[in-house]
Amino acid sequence: MQHQLFIDGRWQDPVEPGQIPVFDPYRGAAYHQVAAAGPADVARAVEAAKAAFPAWRAAGGRERGRYLKAIAGRLTERAEELARISSLNNGKPLGEARIDMADAAASFAYYAELAADLEASQNRTVPVPDAAFGARLRREPAGIASLIVPWNFPLVTTSWKVAPALAAGCTVVLKPSEITPVVELELGVIAAEIGLPPGVLNIITGTGERVGAPMTVHPDVAKISFTGSNAVGARVMAAGAPGTKSVSLELGGKSPIVVFDDADFDQAVECVLGGIFFNAGQMCSATSRLLVERSIAPRLIEAVVAAARALKPGDPLDAGTQIGPITMKAQHDKVLSYIERGKADGLKLLTGGGKPAGLDQGWFVEPTIFGDVPVDSPLWREEIFGPVLCMRSFDSESEAIALANDSDFGLVATVVSEDLDKANRVADAIESGHVWINSPQAIFVQTSWGGFKASGIGRELGPWGMSSYLEVKHVTTRLTR
Ligand code: NAD
Repeated sequence: MQHQLFIDGRWQDPVEPGQIPVFDPYRGAAYHQVAAAGPADVARAVEAAKAAFPAWRAAGGRERGRYLKAIAGRLTERAEELARISSLNNGKPLGEARIDMADAAASFAYYAELAADLEASQNRTVPVPDAAFGARLRREPAGIASLIVPWNFPLVTTSWKVAPALAAGCTVVLKPSEITPVVELELGVIAAEIGLPPGVLNIITGTGERVGAPMTVHPDVAKISFTGSNAVGARVMAAGAPGTKSVSLELGGKSPIVVFDDADFDQAVECVLGGIFFNAGQMCSATSRLLVERSIAPRLIEAVVAAARALKPGDPLDAGTQIGPITMKAQHDKVLSYIERGKADGLKLLTGGGKPAGLDQGWFVEPTIFGDVPVDSPLWREEIFGPVLCMRSFDSESEAIALANDSDFGLVATVVSEDLDKANRVADAIESGHVWINSPQAIFVQTSWGGFKASGIGRELGPWGMSSYLEVKHVTTRLTR
């Protein structure tokens, strides 16, 4: 496993020696160390990205696409090994880590195509209503991009940034989360293997203070793309402001799942469960607020509680494990403190509420469900980022929409109903960047990702993902004297 910094195509030690422990959340113990980079390493990485930029930009989309396709190929070939690396560090069940690896490879394959399309559509004529003028449209890379990612879906959030940035022609400095850096370092191994030109992708591990912050203020950085918490997102945006940097933010959520009484019952249970217990609830897109039509509420809750109790916690690398530990101790403690707050406030605890029996060594939290949660409870309003579901009943479509939208956030939502007219009406009325109807959280790279309101600024995936790394340029020529 790699532990150094990947700068200018070479593995290097940090300027100031230092290391960060990497933990296995199942055992609650450190098993590896990676370099703790600092501001001097950020400067070196930006310098390498700056030196690589002119040639990478000039290479054109087709050639850049060939590199991206090669990365996708290696991610696919190494998927099982990478899934194991990720599972161990994240605590996510191996089956879930395999989904992440497929998603990462799909991002690189998709943006390989879009890079080629970009070149094919370059210099498109823009019709203007004056025959004396001709205009053409160019889309050019923004420059050097600082990419900062969290720990819950490490290689996924990374690929959603690195692939479109490289496709667009940007060169990149990537900072993985200090909690889950190991799988991203393998991306550096792959970049070297496939012969990606040195400096195009630089990966530096370290803390937010010593690496992330300098990446957001460096004068040579044109673009910042950040995924993480709202608190840090606000700091990133403020840091980028004096340099007029383009900033994209993918932040938190407190998303609703709305279940109508005409829903297919089993499908509803599947959607509720997947929306909150996948990755032990550590999802920006967790549908952590369950809104259920009153007439089916008792039956649905009974089924969801039974299914939550049946989820098997354990070693993420064991085939039978259905829910792993929380990835980091501080987050584990935070989730438990929300549960304690709920109990202290007298909320109705329907299941869970602590650590599962016999799994004391790891950072486990039981799947937990609270019923009839008041709308002013912090558990209803704040992102918990763990396996904690809050539920309320509703009596009408309009009440369901109002409750769904009564949030500072607007990342995603799920609607479950057999009446597709109604489901689509509700989907259209919900203020969020993505709505699933009758589906667990199916994510296709062709569709967008990002939030309304406090959930962020900008969109990833799809053509929008690449646009955020591109500048628009028109060249208008007077054709007559
Ligand atoms: P975080 O904000 O603590 O950290 C995210 C990254 O920012 C890390 O790499 C961290 O080292 C870095 N960082 C910390 N301080 C910084 C600073 N001052 N300047 C620059 N970088 C700094 O978030 P987290 O705890 O790693 O992740 C959980 C959060 O991420 C949740 O709120 C979740 O909703 C959000 N998230 C959002 C999406 C999305 O697509 N909207 C996806 C995944 C996670």
